Amino acid sequence: LGNLLEINNLKTYFYTENGEVPAVDGVSITVKKGETLGIVGESGSGKSVTALTAMRLSQGKVMGGSVTFNGMDLLALSDEEMRKIRGKEIAMIFQEPMTSLNPVFTVGHQIMEAIQIHMELSKSKAKERAIELLALVGIPRPERIVNEYPHRLSGGMRQRVMIAMAMSCNPSLLIADEPTTALDVTIQAQILDLMRELKKNHNTSIIMITHDLGVVAETCDRVCVMYGGKVVEESGVQEIFNNPKHPYTQGLLKSVPTLLDSEEQSRLYSIEGNVPIPGSLHEGCYFAPRCEFAMDKCRVEAPAYTEVEQGHFSRCWLHEMDGRGGLNDKSLVES
Ligand code: SF4
Ligand code: MG
Repeated sequence: LGNLLEINNLKTYFYTENGEVPAVDGVSITVKKGETLGIVGESGSGKSVTALTAMRLSQGKVMGGSVTFNGMDLLALSDEEMRKIRGKEIAMIFQEPMTSLNPVFTVGHQIMEAIQIHMELSKSKAKERAIELLALVGIPRPERIVNEYPHRLSGGMRQRVMIAMAMSCNPSLLIADEPTTALDVTIQAQILDLMRELKKNHNTSIIMITHDLGVVAETCDRVCVMYGGKVVEESGVQEIFNNPKHPYTQGLLKSVPTLLDSEEQSRLYSIEGNVPIPGSLHEGCYFAPRCEFAMDKCRVEAPAYTEVEQGHFSRCWLHEMDGRGGLNDKSLVES
């Protein structure tokens, strides 16, 4: 399987009163055709900015790196060329509050508009296609809903409409940024089901940006874990859950009670400390202030990103010390 998207050593900085903030600090990520890649991390880890930079929608300044999609260098395209790719070949959906639908137009009008930007269809054909798309995303009685205004729909239905708009031009890549965070658990499960279906039936590649490892377990093939603007761990989804290598990933996993054995289920764990304040990043490993394994070396020298097992990468000094390339399982069990 070839790579559909290759992000290579991408750097996006913001300039604030407090100086330069490296929001994306040398990120390399690949997405294969038909694959769902999870980008996981706490808020402020750089996962959204990475995706927005790739789509040329970030306010930050790109300081280096490349973004290759289908063999094209997205960072080198003209604004016009990039507009043609957005929505048609790469589509995005967000957590609802960010891109709520326009309240003054019917959902049908908005889907038709999305269709007509990229396809020359008559109004009646576009409306037919809008109804098809509403049916595709599991909206009941689509021929009626097409004439409704957004405020008449529930949050879950509105997110289905957003997905219908995103799928309207059959994108080869769908970027979903916290698509279910605003929804309750039952509706969330339905939306994730829908995305899995779409991926299966249309071979769409998906980047799933989330802070929720439950969402990752449900949808992803591979996972990148981000911290402080860097990818700190990457591997297949089973491997991440069964054999996490990086102390940060291990901490994240402990914070998901349902993924642990029964003895631990009742206990909610959270990683102590906060994500690094932008602009306050120090030498060495960014996770050191929160890491229970931190050594002197960690505070002065940044660990390299190493392949600790085949296809499994992690950025931590412990792997160098441990000949087997990783922490042992005991480290996962709290004392
Ligand atoms: Fe913890 Fe050191 Fe590994 Fe960073 S390099 S995660 S501080 S052990
Ligand atoms: Mg975000």
